[in-house]
Amino acid sequence: MTDETRTIPVTPVHFGHSPISFECPVPVDSLGQIERGGEIIPLAERTAKCGAPANFSIGSQLVCEAHLRHACGLMGLDAEDIIRELREG
Ligand SMILES: [Zn+2]
Repeated sequence: MTDETRTIPVTPVHFGHSPISFECPVPVDSLGQIERGGEIIPLAERTAKCGAPANFSIGSQLVCEAHLRHACGLMGLDAEDIIRELREG
């Protein structure tokens, strides 16, 4: 057993908010879902687009509020804090 400390690289993620909305391009299944039974549905089965108003961005990707919240959950971030900060500018 070695006694070492590892540094895990973390990629910074930029979140943004736009007053102009576009259609959310996140791929969803025929029921509008990206998860089933707690598992991400494979892209091949997600043949539709979310289409909800997308006023937020993760990096350069526009997303709707629901998909921003979902992404925050996957990253272990507090969506409420992020959305409040983005709306307050
Ligand atoms: Zn969406």
